[in-house]
Amino acid sequence: MSEPTLTAVLPDERGYFGEFGGSFVPEILVPALEELNEAFLTAKQDPAFQACYHGLLRDYVGRPTALTYAERLTERLGGGRIYLKREDLCHTGAHKINNAIGQILLARRMGKTRIIAETGAGQHGVATATVCARFGMECIVYMGAEDIERQQLNVHRMRLLGADVRPATSGSQTLKDATNEAIRDWVTNVRDTFYIIGSVVGPHPYPAMVRDFHTIIGEEVKTQLHEKEGRTDPDMLIACVGGGSNAIGMFHPFLRNTSVRCVGVEASGEGLDGRHAATLTLGKPGILHGALSYLLQDEEGQVSLAHSISAGLDYPGVGPEHAWLKQSGRVDYVSATDQEAMEGVQLLSETEGIIPALETAHAVAGLARLAGETDPDDLIVLNCSGRGDKDMQTIAEALS
Ligand SMILES: *Cc1c(COP(=O)(O)O)cnc(C)c1O
Repeated sequence: MSEPTLTAVLPDERGYFGEFGGSFVPEILVPALEELNEAFLTAKQDPAFQACYHGLLRDYVGRPTALTYAERLTERLGGGRIYLKREDLCHTGAHKINNAIGQILLARRMGKTRIIAETGAGQHGVATATVCARFGMECIVYMGAEDIERQQLNVHRMRLLGADVRPATSGSQTLKDATNEAIRDWVTNVRDTFYIIGSVVGPHPYPAMVRDFHTIIGEEVKTQLHEKEGRTDPDMLIACVGGGSNAIGMFHPFLRNTSVRCVGVEASGEGLDGRHAATLTLGKPGILHGALSYLLQDEEGQVSLAHSISAGLDYPGVGPEHAWLKQSGRVDYVSATDQEAMEGVQLLSETEGIIPALETAHAVAGLARLAGETDPDDLIVLNCSGRGDKDMQTIAEALS
């Protein structure tokens, strides 16, 4: 078993978290990824970059986001005291903007003039189009043709923000195919183009870089919990896992303290024996989009189609650091079905007056199951990764 305390210095130089991660890309992208890694490492040490990043998080994103005591949810579930980390209050309605801000600042620093991104449900596309508008940068977003049909509202948002939304028409015409198109574009235009990836996935250094742009979530939890409860570290952290960025952003500053139980909740869709997106629960190691991680695949190693009622969790891969955290046993991964997520939406809405995103609702469902294992003195923090406005159509249909 790997040593969990090593997490603070992972990945290694080649981008590995244990056996997972790395960089499996066409030759032409190797120098671009090295240049990116170099730029990221120097920016991280540069007080001017940090000041600019934190200034935008404060004045544009609206950070720090609140840490809300969920009094009635705590009463209802009858275990430890539950706090909600309110990423739903970020500008654009979810945590994704933390990373988009970090990466566009890096793009400017590197002198890139053209931004590309992939998007599934459109949330990362909206975050990217938002920061491109803010900085007056050209923005091209690849989106599966099928997803463009399903997520019209976000397509309108991106176009209003000035982005060029291009349909990916190959394969299943969803996120996996949009990502392939974005990689193809990057290969062709690598000189002036910066690729903003939307989760802790892809080749090194993306998983580490995206994580670092989200650890502000966990760092704020430490400060806010100390103010409210007199201690920085809770007993349990819980978050939903698609690619894994909101979860790792909250978990990471706590991983070295092994008395903090960390729980990631994947989407098990129609159930683990039906169509699902439970990559860590049922996937096997394989390479997708430039990294080695757990992957949903069939007997022949072909990537399977993922399914979840929540578009943001509907991805057959997962970030390599999560693969390693699962293997090392440091983080527990469980899953929640579409049905349980719908119950989670209703539970948080009715008890706290907070309508969560369907992704977040999976974490609520996971907590509803696990809260009973905790003591009334325990402190629990749930990452409320986004708000549910974008999902109202789906929620209304599922409830009728
Ligand atoms: C995209 C999204 C997720 C899933 O992405 P992660 O990288 O796993 O965080 C979760 N919640 C919301 C609200 C999202 O928009």
